[in-house]
Amino acid sequence: MEILQNAIISKYKNGKKGEVDSIKAIEENIIERRQKLIDKLLTKELKDLKKLAYKFKHRQFLKKKLIVIALNMDEEDYIGLYQKIEDKKRPSRYIHKISISESTIDDYLKIEDCGYYIKKCLKQNICKILRHEIIHAFTSELIGDWTDIEGANRDSSPFFLALLFWFGGNSNHNCVKAFKHSPIYKETKHIKTFDLLDIYLVHKLNQFEKITSSLVMQSTWNTNNRNKFSFSYSGVGLVGNSSIRYSSKDLKTGEIKEFISNNFEIGCCIMPNDIEKYLIRRCNNDNFISYISKKYYIKENYMCTIENGELRKIYI
Ligand SMILES: [Zn+2]
Repeated sequence: MEILQNAIISKYKNGKKGEVDSIKAIEENIIERRQKLIDKLLTKELKDLKKLAYKFKHRQFLKKKLIVIALNMDEEDYIGLYQKIEDKKRPSRYIHKISISESTIDDYLKIEDCGYYIKKCLKQNICKILRHEIIHAFTSELIGDWTDIEGANRDSSPFFLALLFWFGGNSNHNCVKAFKHSPIYKETKHIKTFDLLDIYLVHKLNQFEKITSSLVMQSTWNTNNRNKFSFSYSGVGLVGNSSIRYSSKDLKTGEIKEFISNNFEIGCCIMPNDIEKYLIRRCNNDNFISYISKKYYIKENYMCTIENGELRKIYI
């Protein structure tokens, strides 16, 4: 116990051993210091972002409630996390939750005589994480709330990345290199005011919605394709995520009908006009990450599956 106490004291240099009553007290003190730092930096980030977007408007940068906490992320391969916490009964009512790695905050808190430059860098590191996560929240409100295409705030959504870079944020995701060559990045980076950026993004969202809704159903004489679209977590192009294939064979006539449900993820470099071209290519080349195949048989008026070599009725 004493070793742990000494370790914590030496780690945080937060007072002499004699002044600290127990490990619990030290831990509470650490938690308090972390939260105090987070709240201070969060206030500054939100103020700077509001100035960039709504300088002369009487509104906050985010409309919904935001909570930010420090979290032990030592086992994870990320140091910041955004979560949209929805009200189960009314999903349109939600709050934003941001978690920041405790060790990233402690890196800053535990140094005291490390020199101005190193301290500044460590503080900037926390601000960068905060800004990145706040933009996830902002994209949810600005774009996500207005579209049926899921995932506008995901890390490889062109909307999230366009907003992130416009607001001076950054991302360590692999897709960033490709995104910086994309038309959306090139078209948005020179936009001078947030109002113009907002108009550009709404226009782009309309184009995405128009094209995806026109491609939801594709039918041929014996096949019905249903295509579902969402924005991507990490992809660059149009990713064929999964294809679920249902086929039914009429045992009397031998007629076979197929119903295919495809899920696509729109990556950060995809423009609305690209979607149809890549969708046809994915379908023609059967290029999907996962497949599920289900076979049904129609006997008289019954729909059946085969179980243990025998037909089993599933519904009339
Ligand atoms: Zn992210």
